[in-house]
Amino acid sequence: MSDCLFCKIVAGEIPATVVAESDSSLAFYDIAPQAPVHVLVIPKEHFASVNDVTDANEYVFDNLMSLVRTVVVDEGIKDSGYRLVFNTGEHGQQTVPHLHAHVLGGRKLTWPPG
Ligand code: AMP
Ligand code: ZN
Repeated sequence: MSDCLFCKIVAGEIPATVVAESDSSLAFYDIAPQAPVHVLVIPKEHFASVNDVTDANEYVFDNLMSLVRTVVVDEGIKDSGYRLVFNTGEHGQQTVPHLHAHVLGGRKLTWPPG
């Protein structure tokens, strides 16, 4: 998707601080961190949201979660805990229409979300 922000990050056309990478997924720091650790983990292939992942391409989540596991270890939050968030659609307040997992940690997070 030529006009997609995160596809441009994958293509190296927009800079990002990459913290981990696999063949299929990329992890980089969120530009507006909401916690001491705030990493976005995305598939390199364009999917607009969680809604675009179906039984036929569930591998996308497997690959994404594999990189999430690497990130939580590398960022030192595996044992202290963290939150994974997939904002989806209008009510989910998704602002970038390229599937991404927020990995949030490094402090005790509040619940419920607003
Ligand atoms: P969401 O609101 O769930 O769609 O999340 C999109 C996230 O992307 C937000 O947390 C933004 O701060 C983050 N973001 C937007 N532009 C960039 C960028 N150029 N580099 C890194 N993170 C970004
Ligand atoms: Zn994209």
